[in-house]
Amino acid sequence: MRLSALGVLAPALSTTAAAAPQAAPADLTPPPDLFDAQLLDLDFWVKPRTLSVTRPASGERTKLLYWKDGEVIDSAYQELCHLLRDVNGRETAPIDPKLLEMLWGTQAFIARYGLEQPLEILSGYRTPASNARLIEAGVPAARKSLHMSGKAADIRISSLSEEVLGGLVRSFRQGGVGYYYRSGPKGGWIHADTGLNRTWKG
Ligand SMILES: [Zn+2]
Repeated sequence: MRLSALGVLAPALSTTAAAAPQAAPADLTPPPDLFDAQLLDLDFWVKPRTLSVTRPASGERTKLLYWKDGEVIDSAYQELCHLLRDVNGRETAPIDPKLLEMLWGTQAFIARYGLEQPLEILSGYRTPASNARLIEAGVPAARKSLHMSGKAADIRISSLSEEVLGGLVRSFRQGGVGYYYRSGPKGGWIHADTGLNRTWKG
């Protein structure tokens, strides 16, 4: 699979390309209260992309270089699609590369502040049957969920609150963000998709 040299997010960021030289990561600490991905310059988007993800439902964990020199690495892409599969329905589907880019961007952005943590995937692709089952069980899920087309993921990063993680994903301005606040030791999660730009609380 071949994408443009700068990936699909780059056009929105091209206006920042002429910004001042990038500060060294050390200069960026401490982390701000809210992250803003629009501050990223072009350098960020052309570097090789390694995504570190875990799947609590299956206990899987992987760290994969999946994009470099402007191209998705197909074997790693297939592995990521498998990891984001429907764990309950046991089906794998193609995941929107733009969604992977948003997940990677989120992780890579906070890594600049020394926060290097795997991204937990609570839900990725869902078969229509799995999605219907969730609705029946009273779990928040939309009838026409973008999970069914490989364009959505429910995520968590243990060190970030829903507010901060959602704010960061939202700052990419590449799709929808749902905030699912929950009490309990693990807290809630963020729904990220590559549909229309919108936010909601669920
Ligand atoms: Zn979701």
